Amino acid sequence: MERVYNFAPGPAMLPQQALETAAAEMLSYQGTGMSVMEMSHRSKGYQAIFDEAIALLRELMHIPENYTVLLLQGGATGQFAAVPLNLLKKTADYADTGNFAHGALTQAKAYGDIRCAASSREDNYTHIPEITLSMVNPEADYFYICTNNTIFGTRYPAIPQTGSVPLVADMSSNILSEPYDVSRFGVIFAGAQKNIGPAGLTVVIVRNDLLGSPSPLCPKVFNWTLQAEKGSMLNTPPTYSVYMMGLCLKWLRSQGGVEAIEQVNIEKARILYDTLDASAFYRPTAEKGSRSRMNVTFTTPSPELDAKFVSEAAKAGLVSLKGHRLVGGLRASIYNAMPIEGVVALCEFMKGFEKENA
Ligand SMILES: *Cc1c(COP(=O)(O)O)cnc(C)c1O
Repeated sequence: MERVYNFAPGPAMLPQQALETAAAEMLSYQGTGMSVMEMSHRSKGYQAIFDEAIALLRELMHIPENYTVLLLQGGATGQFAAVPLNLLKKTADYADTGNFAHGALTQAKAYGDIRCAASSREDNYTHIPEITLSMVNPEADYFYICTNNTIFGTRYPAIPQTGSVPLVADMSSNILSEPYDVSRFGVIFAGAQKNIGPAGLTVVIVRNDLLGSPSPLCPKVFNWTLQAEKGSMLNTPPTYSVYMMGLCLKWLRSQGGVEAIEQVNIEKARILYDTLDASAFYRPTAEKGSRSRMNVTFTTPSPELDAKFVSEAAKAGLVSLKGHRLVGGLRASIYNAMPIEGVVALCEFMKGFEKENA
């Protein structure tokens, strides 16, 4: 079976080993005579799959005991509402560093007094603004960041200090790509379809002292406190996506875990940015100090050449390289499952394309 190098921003490429195991277990999971998709979420057999997925995430991210891991539905976008509905008493601070951070900020405004504490919106989000402790409202219920901006190709080079104000992070597009000290955060959440597994699953990691006082308006399915009490099974969880998450995390563990994959990710990003920096034809769009290791955004000299690049790359087995409409140009998303060979193949293609079109 011919597989392509898929540079899609999400849903994105998954580890082949995980897909192969899922295929082998499709009709009968470990002798049960049924697919995981057909198992009751209340069954003992399924509970073991669910518990193992959480245990693997805890192990790989070194999640401390005083944090609860929830596996929910509704995507990262659902959490844009869930965050204020679970944490907001009076006021909160947001850093507006991209389209998803802006969306979270706008959504939160429906629920209370929200302040934009830092922003790079006026620069079309080409960089991460500096955030110092003096910019944090000490009265804020939380401070919100998006660690990696999927559309604009930027990443926080350092996690800001927020004093005693809990830091809330949307890590959808770089969770598990590099080690983060979870104890620095009050809440981490991520939609699964970038770097965890397939779509339909949302991971929420919440410090236990932040549970217990949700807004009375919070829908039950987004109520972290209630979901924690119910083991994320207030209603039917995304059962198959959780199973796939488990398979993907087993693959990640076999690669040496987050610490080892970070080194691979640094190398992949270096190869690609080196190619961009060495060329007068391609122009990277994110500022150097804010560059993402997961989403590499760039342009050719014209929109026509961008389009030609996308279609010729696809013919060479390098697919989904079109940039987001807000940035234009091209974007190569190189999450954990993208092998280094895929990035090398892309760079070779880029050099050839430049020669023919410069
Ligand atoms: C993709 C993405 C989202 C949106 O996720 P959904 O699961 O589609 O709601 C939010 N934040 C970031 C950083 C993303 O990359």
